[in-house]
Amino acid sequence: MLNTKANKLEINAERLWDTLEVSARIGVGKSTGLSRLALSDDDKAMRDQFVQWCTAAGCVLRVDGAGNIFARREGKDPSLPAVVMGSHLDTQVAGGRYDGILGVLSGLEVIRTLNDQNVDTRRAVEVVCWTNEEGVRFQPPMMGAGFFCGVHALDWVLGQQDENGCAFGQELKRIGYAGSAPRDPSAIDAYFELHIEQGPILDAEGLHVGIVIGGYTSFGAEVQITGENAHSGPTPMRKRKDALVAASVIVAEVNKIGWEYEPEGRSTCARIEVSPNKYGIIADHAKVTIDVRHPDPALAKEMYDKVIAVLPVAQKQSNTALGIIKEWVFGDVAFDQNLTDLVEEVAVDLDVSHKHMLSAAGHDAYHLAKVVPTALIFTPCHDGITHNESEHIEPRYTAPGVNVLLNAVLRRANA
Ligand SMILES: [Zn+2]
Repeated sequence: MLNTKANKLEINAERLWDTLEVSARIGVGKSTGLSRLALSDDDKAMRDQFVQWCTAAGCVLRVDGAGNIFARREGKDPSLPAVVMGSHLDTQVAGGRYDGILGVLSGLEVIRTLNDQNVDTRRAVEVVCWTNEEGVRFQPPMMGAGFFCGVHALDWVLGQQDENGCAFGQELKRIGYAGSAPRDPSAIDAYFELHIEQGPILDAEGLHVGIVIGGYTSFGAEVQITGENAHSGPTPMRKRKDALVAASVIVAEVNKIGWEYEPEGRSTCARIEVSPNKYGIIADHAKVTIDVRHPDPALAKEMYDKVIAVLPVAQKQSNTALGIIKEWVFGDVAFDQNLTDLVEEVAVDLDVSHKHMLSAAGHDAYHLAKVVPTALIFTPCHDGITHNESEHIEPRYTAPGVNVLLNAVLRRANA
């Protein structure tokens, strides 16, 4: 029985890589990455594969109303809340092979390693795949975790539609993952998420593990602009109400704000919708999403205030009507001090190089941190390239972080 600090377990990195390779063949993108959108046929195929692996590892599966899949390796005392690891298996349209996938499959590798070594734990150990973390097909992102943590009501989640009008709930049923397991955060003792950093710091500094102590504060908004259709030839400039002009002013000005707060501040308009989007027709409608982030919450707010001040300018220059139709803020997250200390203690014991850092991207762990003790562990990715088909990681840089996850989970599960 291995349950003391002195004993250290090690994952089978080759097996983890073989598992990642199988995932990399499900929902292949245009080149080397993945295009595995939430609740698509490819998402179903990957879920089926994950369920098969977990079943083969002796786990008991359950699926909740939002399609989150939990695989449980029972503990000596089944009445105790479980230690849970996880992330997501869905990807962006032109996503990489690793993103959240590494977190889920590392959790599976932890369970496989415990099996190999015949380790019994006091608490159950579970791996979870959260539904629709990416928020590509259905918004918002981190939807499954948001449901589980009580941020979104189930009916609301099930009613969200993709661009073609397909409802989340219908699609979940179609792929066979509309479950009925209760939503019960109190059944979780601790949540560990391992994720690639999605930034360049660990790679540049040659470190193996980032212990995340908080997140960038992120403000977001969706702005709707209403203009008027007109012919681009006969319509004089002074008579126009051009929604695309307003959107363009917003895009250009928001970009400038990010530069003012460089290098830590970031501002983006990642999505624009314009109609009718035809040659010769002045646009009567546009929508722009705005995203500003800064590690200092006060400066993030300052950036967002500047964004708000851009809107009347854009309105005036285009003679349109515009307004914010959705607004959000996230990232003011505090991870659990005890778990963060535990991860650090394990990293020191295993002689794994590490540093404390902030996360600039949102993760399922952000929602979990609000309701259960949560730790987020980063591993390096080449040059910080992510949400890109050329996202790349290597076993020798990644395995040390997965070993930290394994031993931290083991210690917590026996505590
Ligand atoms: Zn992710």
